[in-house]
Amino acid sequence: MNKIIEIQTNGDSDVLKVSDVNLLSAGKDQASIKITLAGVNFIDVYHRRGQYALPLPSRLGLEGIGEIIEIESETSDFKVGDIVFWTSTLGSYAQYIAVPVNQLTRIDSNITLKPDQILPLLLQGMTAHYLANSAYLVNEGDTVLVTAAAGGVGQILVQLLKAKSVRIIALASTIERANYAKSIGADFVGTYQDIAELVSEATNGAGVNVVYDSVGKDVFDSCLDTLTWKGMYVLYGAASGPVPPFDLMRLNPKSLSIRRPSLGAYTQNYAERVARFIELAELAQTGKLKYPAAKVLPLTQAKQAHDLIESRTYSGKIALDPWF
Ligand code: NDP
Repeated sequence: MNKIIEIQTNGDSDVLKVSDVNLLSAGKDQASIKITLAGVNFIDVYHRRGQYALPLPSRLGLEGIGEIIEIESETSDFKVGDIVFWTSTLGSYAQYIAVPVNQLTRIDSNITLKPDQILPLLLQGMTAHYLANSAYLVNEGDTVLVTAAAGGVGQILVQLLKAKSVRIIALASTIERANYAKSIGADFVGTYQDIAELVSEATNGAGVNVVYDSVGKDVFDSCLDTLTWKGMYVLYGAASGPVPPFDLMRLNPKSLSIRRPSLGAYTQNYAERVARFIELAELAQTGKLKYPAAKVLPLTQAKQAHDLIESRTYSGKIALDPWF
């Protein structure tokens, strides 16, 4: 049997239910995986609420680390016993999952981090990596604005940007959370109430070169106003709700740009995924990237995990252990 978390309907965290289902064999070009840890991400909350619609009933969770126990592929060089991760296969809140081999990445034995130290580097870490390195090319001396800077993606993003010698203005919902962002490298910090004053003070009224925003609706207008000439708004999430339809002419006076990126586009092929993961793992192993190990809850406490990520009180990764 396979213990899974599924939803029959959209709603609050009470809709997350534990079920026992039959264990299926791997299909063509899939690997069956015994899951070690499943990652909890804010996108799982969007799926649960119906903000990103899934056909119902649906399993939940996109990310995990585990061991291949069966493989049905003549073209891939994965083998039984390989330790792998994936970030985009629905149904990862489970004991077992079948993952298409083209979505798997091997975790080589020279990676000395434990699974709860690796998990923060996957969906969240690789998102921070593509934001800092690919979604917008920062120049030394740029000033950047980062929202949700104390969250899972945010805290890695702040550190990756800091290493590029940019000035970072970090925002969070409380000053305590903002101060956490300061402790890991942000130069100026404040809450969402202070955006205009904070940016004006930090940049002598000039504005920021780029906004990295995952909060969306509640802060979009204020953050857009902080951009300087030819600035870029990188809108990569919608924790407070989606940004409503938008008049492109608002970009015209200062020649602004908006990008609405997704991790899938920046981890499409194996080489790209490995390059991002290895760089993050090396930074973590050498102590240059600091973050707490994932907070691990039993799979059966998926509801508590969602309550925690939505409570805005936790800074870091939350994981589900299906064997607890
Ligand atoms: P976080 O750990 O960052 O949790 C979300 C954070 O959003 C909270 O900690 C909270 O921080 C902030 N927030 C702001 N408004 C709200 C609200 N109304 N309700 C709840 N939280 C709010 O989650 P993740 O690290 O998993 O993800 C961060 C963001 O990145 C998410 O929006 C996610 O969708 C996005 N994402 C996008 C990807 C992409 O490629 N486009 C890929 C991966 C993640 P505070 O209270 O300090 O504001």
